[in-house]
Amino acid sequence: MISKQLLTDEAKNIMETVHKFCEKEFKDTLKWDAEQYMPYELWGKMGEIGLTGIMLDSELGGLGDDLFLATVVMEEMAVYSPAIGMTLGAHTILAGSVINRKGNKAQKEKYIPDIAAGKKVAALCITEPEVGCDAGHPKTKAVKKGDYYIINGNKTFITNAPHADIFVVYATTDETSKKRNVSAFIVEKGFGNITVNKLNKMGMRASPTGEVYFDNVEVPVENRLGEEGDGVYIMMSGLDVERIGLSGENIGIMKGSLKAASEYAAHRMQFGRHIIKYQFIQDKLAYMYTQLELNRCYLYTLANEWNKNKGSRALRAPTAAVKLQSAKAAVKCAEEAIQIMGGAGYMQDTMPQMYWRDAKLYTIGAGTSEMMKLIIAKDLEDHYTTY
Ligand SMILES: Cc1cc2nc3c(=O)[nH]c(=O)nc-3n(C[C@H](O)[C@H](O)[C@H](O)COP(=O)(O)OP(=O)(O)OC[C@H]3O[C@@H](n4cnc5c(N)ncnc54)[C@H](O)[C@@H]3O)c2cc1C
Repeated sequence: MISKQLLTDEAKNIMETVHKFCEKEFKDTLKWDAEQYMPYELWGKMGEIGLTGIMLDSELGGLGDDLFLATVVMEEMAVYSPAIGMTLGAHTILAGSVINRKGNKAQKEKYIPDIAAGKKVAALCITEPEVGCDAGHPKTKAVKKGDYYIINGNKTFITNAPHADIFVVYATTDETSKKRNVSAFIVEKGFGNITVNKLNKMGMRASPTGEVYFDNVEVPVENRLGEEGDGVYIMMSGLDVERIGLSGENIGIMKGSLKAASEYAAHRMQFGRHIIKYQFIQDKLAYMYTQLELNRCYLYTLANEWNKNKGSRALRAPTAAVKLQSAKAAVKCAEEAIQIMGGAGYMQDTMPQMYWRDAKLYTIGAGTSEMMKLIIAKDLEDHYTTY
């Protein structure tokens, strides 16, 4: 495939590492999905081969702040379990990466080594019951008292929350200001009264998601990321990273769907012929192949571009475009795979039905498809003459 020519030797190696690891360790993927079980016992093993260190500085034990490699890891892991990929992504690409990119030296030295080694689990807390797409206005409050901020409020739909040791939390620090009123904090589970309630989901079931309640939690001032009021800027640049990195999961879902469906179609006989010979089936497989190839080319190119121009605002619309399109294509590819497999595809012991439920998340999480369109429309408004 042409898209694979964009893989560097380093990326091929990491993909192979993930492939071998998942082949060996992810044999119970469908069982974990059914039981909503996240195998955190594999976290340490993932740490040993560097996977919990994606997007984290190599001198602190990570694989380097490299979004291309992170995207490739997400792609390959999603073939086996999008839910575990997302859980890992929330730990590294979402929470860990924010501390890695925006933390000061002391914060990074304190938190990154344990995150990179998989000794501690990290979660990113943006969403709240009343604050979804409009993420820049958290109702969670952080009030400064001496050397501490007192955090009160609650977050919801937080990946990893039921098992997290470290939370990156966005909270309003200045209610009187309309600008620069949000700040970001590194909050340890042990800082105070933090309670978590696990949620029940239709997809990404192996990935634990929770509501988190902060009740007068005392966070030392030195745990604020950046300056007071930097929160929205930190959040937005982090969301671009998240959207590119986790779009790798959409590629993996398309890859897994295409593989499962074409293998099935090549062996399944009806009316005396393999169903892969029928044009209705070929139409679906050709669509899946095309979506995989085009989305992967675009995503790899974008992830490389991000590595060269980290934090560039110019990448925001292309990032929204790849998130929007790859999520839509992943849902459709999984659905086509189910259709090609007929009744077998509807059974819970096959992968496409899980991919389908999992892929749907990416039309919602990390910014809904509607929000991606708004970002693209804004860019069009500002830059249409340059297109
Ligand atoms: C499995 C899962 C894991 C998640 N993990 C995390 C996590 O780790 N950390 C975290 O912080 N969050 C997480 N989220 C939350 C996720 O990012 C939010 O669900 C998402 O941002 C949407 O917010 P909402 O659900 O409140 O929807 P709402 O904001 O209530 O939106 C509802 C609908 O209205 C539409 N809408 C809203 N505003 C507009 C508008 N202006 N124009 C047009 N349409 C609009 C939306 O697109 C959507 O279709 C997770 C969610 C899920 C389901």
